[in-house]
Amino acid sequence: MVKAIVGANWGDEGKGKITDMLARDSDIIVRFQGGANAGHTIVNNYGKFALHTLPSGVFYDHTTSIIGNGVALNIPVLFRELKQIVDRGVPMPKLLVSDRAQIVMPYHVLFDQYEEERLGGKSFGSTKSGIAPFYSDKYAKIGFQVSELFEEDIIREKAERVCAVKNVLLEHLYQKPLLDVGELIETLHEYRDMVAPYVCNVSLYLDQAIREGKTILLEGQLGTLKDPDHGIYPMVTSSSTLAAYGAIGAGLPPYEIRQIITVVKAYSSAVGAGAFVSEIFGEEAEELRRRGGDGGEYGATTGRPRRVGWLDIPATRYGCRLQGTTDVAFTVLDVLGYLDEIPVCTGYEIDGSVTTEFPVTGKLEQAKPVIEKLPGWKCEIRGIREYEQLPENCRRYIEFAEQRIGYPITLISNGPGRDDIIYRKSKL
Ligand code: GDP
Repeated sequence: MVKAIVGANWGDEGKGKITDMLARDSDIIVRFQGGANAGHTIVNNYGKFALHTLPSGVFYDHTTSIIGNGVALNIPVLFRELKQIVDRGVPMPKLLVSDRAQIVMPYHVLFDQYEEERLGGKSFGSTKSGIAPFYSDKYAKIGFQVSELFEEDIIREKAERVCAVKNVLLEHLYQKPLLDVGELIETLHEYRDMVAPYVCNVSLYLDQAIREGKTILLEGQLGTLKDPDHGIYPMVTSSSTLAAYGAIGAGLPPYEIRQIITVVKAYSSAVGAGAFVSEIFGEEAEELRRRGGDGGEYGATTGRPRRVGWLDIPATRYGCRLQGTTDVAFTVLDVLGYLDEIPVCTGYEIDGSVTTEFPVTGKLEQAKPVIEKLPGWKCEIRGIREYEQLPENCRRYIEFAEQRIGYPITLISNGPGRDDIIYRKSKL
């Protein structure tokens, strides 16, 4: 049984917590896209962790954690993260790295920084982790696949090719220090030695696991609106954030993904630039940001304050549709308990008419939010485990959201911990 856990919006919906929770009853957790540019925050019995590269299942000793071929693998970051969790008492996880994953090189990180510098005020708000240069090289076919680290001839030949291309840009576009072939080869040798014990033919391993009836979780990063095809291009990430890509980025048949759990936050937040129709500002935003998430809405990787806003129905409905949602996990609901009234963006006004469909970026930038308000519940809901125990106005908010989103909310998260979860039977 394969399940995907993905985001409906801009990321930071709480996928890490849901994955960590579902990992309890799973065998294998696979990261299938993205790199160390975003993170998941997880709170469990070992403490609070920000993971960037490791799958969110690493805290259990019965699970195998896999870095799939679709991931942008930063080897030093992976091993630093591994050491950090082990140093804090987590047992050494069982880790496998796909022999087809490609490697984020130090020059990818540099090119990311140089390009942001060059663009100045017009930058994409990159986290400068090298992700866009990495994926560009992958598709330009000058990336390094993990399997290639073990082929000396390939390493040498490719290192020369890479230096020739990159050095033209470094010299003439960026006026920065050039790459050295010898140094590059040395780095590749170091990476080879670090990753060697973990390398695996992941698609074969997963094929076998599926035949044995194992439970596999595919863990997405970011959300639909950051997908390069279906998101707010060009303010998107460089790999697909959709569950469909889980099949490719892990190496398994698409029809094996039986459950797609799309994580939706009870309000909105976004890191980085781009259209965000339901965004709020000033004191109202500051209060939500301060109370939001677990200790405020600040990026897990960058520490940047997140932009915040109200639940955006057109974006979320679209986000769930593109994911192929079977279940919605509605998260961080507890945070809204302070509000007398809860605004919800139920439509967009574009060119004088109202739509509930999510448009292409140019139109989105002109959209003004149509706001409806629901009564708040004005109390703490953490600790509640039964749907019927939630205050009436809280259930009304959930049911309103579900009806407008159009996909069943079957999980409700009312706190950052593993057990802060309510299972619900949807009437949809
Ligand atoms: P991800 O990238 O989708 O995994 O999201 P992040 O981990 O970046 O952000 C989610 C934040 O919300 C983290 O700080 C979580 O600990 C926290 N969180 C997750 N679910 C809940 C919840 O139901 N209530 C509260 N208060 N915090 C939550």
